[in-house]
Amino acid sequence: MWCFASTVGFLVLTWFLGPLALRALIKRRLGGYWRDANVVDSTKPERLAAPKRVAVLGGGVAGLTAAVTLARRGFEVTLLDKNAYLGGKLGSWPVQLTPTRRVWVSHGFHAFFPHYVNLNRFLDSLGLRRSFKSIGEYAILSAKGPGVSFRELDRTPVFNLFALMRAGVFKLGDALKAPGRDLYGVFLEYEHDKTFADFDHLSFADFNRLAQVPPRLKVAFNTFARAFFADEDKLSFAELLKSFHFYYLGQDGGLVYGYPTRDYEPAFLEPIRQELSKHGATVRLGQAVKALGKDGQGFSVDGERFDSVVVATDVVGAAAIVGAAQGLPEPLTTRFGALRPGQRYGVLRVWIDKDVRKDVPVFVITDRERVLDAVSLYHRLEEDSAEDVKAHGGYVIELHCYAVPEGMERDELRQALLDEVVQFFPELQGFTVQHEVFQLNRDFTAFHRGLYADRPTVETGVPGLVCAGDWVKLPFPAMLLEAACVSGVWAANQLLREAGLREEPVRSVPLRGLMAGMPQPPARKVLGR
Ligand SMILES: Cc1cc2nc3c(=O)[nH]c(=O)nc-3n(C[C@H](O)[C@H](O)[C@H](O)COP(=O)(O)OP(=O)(O)OC[C@H]3O[C@@H](n4cnc5c(N)ncnc54)[C@H](O)[C@@H]3O)c2cc1C
Repeated sequence: MWCFASTVGFLVLTWFLGPLALRALIKRRLGGYWRDANVVDSTKPERLAAPKRVAVLGGGVAGLTAAVTLARRGFEVTLLDKNAYLGGKLGSWPVQLTPTRRVWVSHGFHAFFPHYVNLNRFLDSLGLRRSFKSIGEYAILSAKGPGVSFRELDRTPVFNLFALMRAGVFKLGDALKAPGRDLYGVFLEYEHDKTFADFDHLSFADFNRLAQVPPRLKVAFNTFARAFFADEDKLSFAELLKSFHFYYLGQDGGLVYGYPTRDYEPAFLEPIRQELSKHGATVRLGQAVKALGKDGQGFSVDGERFDSVVVATDVVGAAAIVGAAQGLPEPLTTRFGALRPGQRYGVLRVWIDKDVRKDVPVFVITDRERVLDAVSLYHRLEEDSAEDVKAHGGYVIELHCYAVPEGMERDELRQALLDEVVQFFPELQGFTVQHEVFQLNRDFTAFHRGLYADRPTVETGVPGLVCAGDWVKLPFPAMLLEAACVSGVWAANQLLREAGLREEPVRSVPLRGLMAGMPQPPARKVLGR
């Protein structure tokens, strides 16, 4: 009943106050949507007086952000990555399709959301968003009927829920029907640590079962769930609540994201490499770090001495490196050793002989039937691919599977992706694959239920040793590319603090949702432990 009462209260308030006043009230209650996550003391020096050597392990977004931040402040940075290319999951490498045809292929299309404020600040410091284009439309395609469009979505939190209702994603009746009406309120009550204490034991599937979520609303929920690369029976419900708060109910940036119109190498990686080189940093690629040690003099990384270390690998690397490190406290090595990746994900880029209809955005999410989660149209979205097909003919599409069913073999996944794309795009019926690059990886963080309490933080408790990556627990909500970037800045800040230097500013969405701290309906108990 409580949720019913608050919904009616909300409608009455809208009636009396008018939408403008209510928008202002929501913004105020959410602290203006943005908060300073740290205090920058401008009286402190900006640059190191005496050199310090820092090793950054991993050259993904987290490692690159930490490396650039520290190199700009006078640290002697050495960045090491096991891959032959920079960027990690945002990396890109050349592939020779034929003796005369060379293309660049990446780990997959990425959406850069407007509210990724720390990432935007980092990219803007290098002028890297100039080639960005807006997707224009955030769409979910369904093979069975009408999809969902977020294009016309109101960007003000709560108003955006009503907009979803108008778009037919759910009916007011669904929201007012038990048991859902007593449970949906949790989405508006995000409280950074409390949400995890209360709900990390539940899976998203548990919630769907307890709330009896209607199928169409589940499509919208699934959109947020996909960001975690996990099946719904594994995914932590607390992580899903964080996702909703971070992407939807805690800020007003909207979901219409940008994307670079060039391949990641020219768009980001080469300019970042140049920035590192300008500040004297060394980049060593193709070098997997094996051994980390700590003694009275500092750290050793595969036998080389450093004053500080930023562990910015993926979870697999962090578990291997820190889990087996010498000279670190045992609880720390045990905690890292227990880190596990989530499910496998697949990215299949194919050069084909048929095109997709013109009225779809260049990247769409698909309401997955079996394996297909998203489709990107590279010949339309990226200049490099457009030039390639202009010269050689054909079309380039990329198929994503964010959580490969356990036990599914590589060939079966490949075939299932190719079969499923035709269900969403019947015009591709009978297409042939001329070339392909297929990646099947297991190096994404497991955001599974019950794991949050033991997830490492940026600070390790060992002076000079910090971590960064989208898997690191932060004191504020952030996810994916933004989490990777902001954890890199947060890690650099810890080393800047230790050296007595001024920190880089960090901003975050509010820590608490609109209805956090409100009394809860007794029926909410079913979500308890
Ligand atoms: C297919 C796909 C689509 C995605 N789409 C989006 C999206 O649309 N929007 C979004 O925000 N995010 C998206 N993401 C997530 C995003 O890519 C990641 O959150 C982000 O790139 C993670 O950056 P990172 O630096 O934390 O980790 P990584 O990019 O994984 O970097 C870690 C680096 O560590 C290196 N490493 C590992 N072990 C060692 C070792 N022993 N020694 C040295 N180096 C090592 C690796 O080679 C790698 O370069 C997507 C991810 C994938 C896979």
